[in-house]
Amino acid sequence: MMTRKTPIIAVATAPGKAGIGIIRISGAKLLPIVQALFQKQLLPRRANLLNLRDGQGAVIDQLIAIYFAAPQSFTGEDILELQCHGGPELLDLVMKRCLELSKDQGLEIAEPGEFSLRAYLNNKIDLAQAEAIADLIDAQSEAAVRGAARSLQGEFSRDINALIEEITQLRILVESTLDFPEEEIEFLESAHARDRLKVVMGRIHSLVDGAKQGKILRDGIQIVLAGAPNVGKSSLLNRLAGEEIAIVTPIAGTTRDRVKESIQIGGVPLHIIDTAGLRATQDVVEAKGIERSWEAIRTADLVIFLKDPASSEAFLDPASQSLKDQILTAIPPRCPVLEVNNKADLMTGPVPPSNHKALHISAKTGVGIEDLKQSILAAVGWGGSQEGIIIARGRHLDCLNRALEHLERSEQFAANGNISLELFAEELRLAQDQLGRITGKLLPDDLLGKIFSQFCIGK
Ligand code: GDP
Ligand code: ZN
Repeated sequence: MMTRKTPIIAVATAPGKAGIGIIRISGAKLLPIVQALFQKQLLPRRANLLNLRDGQGAVIDQLIAIYFAAPQSFTGEDILELQCHGGPELLDLVMKRCLELSKDQGLEIAEPGEFSLRAYLNNKIDLAQAEAIADLIDAQSEAAVRGAARSLQGEFSRDINALIEEITQLRILVESTLDFPEEEIEFLESAHARDRLKVVMGRIHSLVDGAKQGKILRDGIQIVLAGAPNVGKSSLLNRLAGEEIAIVTPIAGTTRDRVKESIQIGGVPLHIIDTAGLRATQDVVEAKGIERSWEAIRTADLVIFLKDPASSEAFLDPASQSLKDQILTAIPPRCPVLEVNNKADLMTGPVPPSNHKALHISAKTGVGIEDLKQSILAAVGWGGSQEGIIIARGRHLDCLNRALEHLERSEQFAANGNISLELFAEELRLAQDQLGRITGKLLPDDLLGKIFSQFCIGK
């Protein structure tokens, strides 16, 4: 992991042209660097209009420099922020000049996420908050922005810390009784240990529910759209997207250039993989796309099997049947599957009412599309409300679920006739460790490195 102590520099703003581009330097002691760049000292937290000059004395840029003295800064170290003009070439020149002038101070280019890592290591933010920064930047909908902001404000961490505190109190109680085994039963009753355990488990359950919603907001729903050629997969994709994103043609097997489309339903991102392109091919580019599709299928949240009830041949087509079997084998266990009948507009007689077993839609006329959208959201457990949701990651869900497993086991060890305070206490400790991993306490270094390396440069 990047735990070096050297001062670091990076462009903090997005690549490309903009009015302003910000370069950030963080380090334990930056005043020597400030001196080297501008031949003067700066007062903390003041905007200074300054010239940065090249070796010949020519001005590279007139910029605004702000110096933040440790520990009152994002990273907890000294920070120097340079607000330059926002041209990529110019920012490159400024970076080079800063590195050149600060060679003696050991200034180096920052790794992705290194500023946030320092903020975390200096206890300015915990890990869940650091992740929230990345999620805020990556957020693809307003709800995701709001969820990440709540997490960054520490709402999620506060819930976790309160649970850790409650478990700690229980552990102190249990461990102080361990020396008096004859009092075990009385202890458990008098301290209401099992009631308190139940309360903690209830709170984790509701956090899991919330985190599931938060994960949906962050990662969206990965949907695999399968079905025989010509049942209307591309048409459905177009209908859901409300615009022409896939190619619709009456010739079977024409969806080959776009395999994945991302759309939103009520602020929830849906990533839909059209499996029409899944076929043997000699084309290298196409083969890569197909491999990516299979990867997506292996992590799908939902499969939609589209059928055309009017076309009986489609069911008999052995290629389609074998593709369907392959997909069913590849999807994760417990992945819900929706069977959807398309081309309801061609049906003679009244369209049967849709239910969760059989949906009837028409990609052409839009009949049943609203029901389908609601069924998609319901099938993956979307609660429907974005109020108060905190953005969450799969990692958080794993930790919460593991903590629950340990608490369930500890409950068994506290059950009548099976009392073992040592094992009860041990399971409490393991549950607490899992919760601690969410905020970063007790997280192994390699995992930490992996999390921060996924941040963007300059953050
Ligand atoms: P895909 O091969 O599964 O992607 O199917 P397409 O979306 O390319 O559609 C195949 C043909 O079925 C096209 O001619 C579409 O216009 C037609 N089609 C798709 N959906 C419907 C529908 O709901 N009703 C009717 N009548 N035709 C449809
Ligand atoms: Zn198609």
